[in-house]
Amino acid sequence: MPLDRFHREINYLRISITDRCNLRCTYCMPLDGLRFAPTEEMLSAREIALVVRAAVDAGFRRFRLTGGEPTLRRDLVEIVREIKSVPGVGELAMTTNALLLPGLAPELAAAGLDRVNIHLDTLDEARLRQVMRFSDLNKVWAGIMAAEAAGLLPIKLNSVIVRGMNDEDVVELARLTIERAWHLRFIELMPLGGGECARYSRDKYVSNGVTRARIEAALGPLTALSNQHPSDESRNFRLPAARGVVGFISPVSEPFCGTCNRMRLTATGKFHLCLLNDDELDVRRCLREDGDLGRIRAVLLAAVGQKPSGHALARGVSSEIQSMYHLGG
Ligand code: SAM
Ligand code: SF4
Repeated sequence: MPLDRFHREINYLRISITDRCNLRCTYCMPLDGLRFAPTEEMLSAREIALVVRAAVDAGFRRFRLTGGEPTLRRDLVEIVREIKSVPGVGELAMTTNALLLPGLAPELAAAGLDRVNIHLDTLDEARLRQVMRFSDLNKVWAGIMAAEAAGLLPIKLNSVIVRGMNDEDVVELARLTIERAWHLRFIELMPLGGGECARYSRDKYVSNGVTRARIEAALGPLTALSNQHPSDESRNFRLPAARGVVGFISPVSEPFCGTCNRMRLTATGKFHLCLLNDDELDVRRCLREDGDLGRIRAVLLAAVGQKPSGHALARGVSSEIQSMYHLGG
């Protein structure tokens, strides 16, 4: 298992497979001025699988597909199949806005995808359109049902909380966990994206302390779960008599850099060392020159070796940090 300079075990690779998206969530993508990478710069299914092979050799076990919106890749099922055919790969999950999941979930499960995290910020149709702009509650719900029917479990829902938009909807979201064995995770808004997006995020931030108090006032006390894994970014709780889990991911109020176990691969083949730091190491060149596993592994281990110790969101990071859709959220 690779250790970084700060003795953290880095064993989890998040793989962005596209920077494109069929939504324009307000805190992630502006409506104008977007620049996407040319298709020929994106890693192919075979190239992604080679990186995964090198990562397994280096001790990585967990993998996640993300983006942009990963379901926009036409070869998504092939990507999943290729990754899962690498000996030693453990869990493969995917983060998605679920709009295209109804048609894809059975095939993805058959190809070996283990589970999905679905992005849904509110159960109110009008506010959903305000915060996630072009999302559609019926379609997302159909996506969740399709994922559940296909056995992509446990279902985890991610909600980014935005002041004045969906901050009061956290109660209805958390309520879902009473009847269903889903995980509802509340994510603090991060000032990413540069310019407009970052300024917007700073003004619209709500701490998870406030979100938790709102949920407890309406639905009763949250009890901490004892089986918390140290590198799980989410602090997990249960409502009284609930089947599911309420989680809080608090990168701003409680940064989890000390237990960070992840590395990111961008859609164009760069290892991105930390979400809140723009340093990257290119691996596409090795992939396209000779695809030598030893060279790819060396770049990955160099990236692990250079991972920074922490970020400074609470103190205010540069507003030029890239968006989640570039980095793979
Ligand atoms: N499109 C997929 C989705 O939305 O789940 C996968 C990629 S998206 C970049 C991954 C996650 O990033 C989303 O679930 C959303 O919660 C999160 N995200 C994007 N921008 C964010 C921001 N400014 N602050 C906090 N979370 C953000
Ligand atoms: Fe697309 Fe996900 Fe970003 Fe929303 S958060 S714009 S769904 S990449």
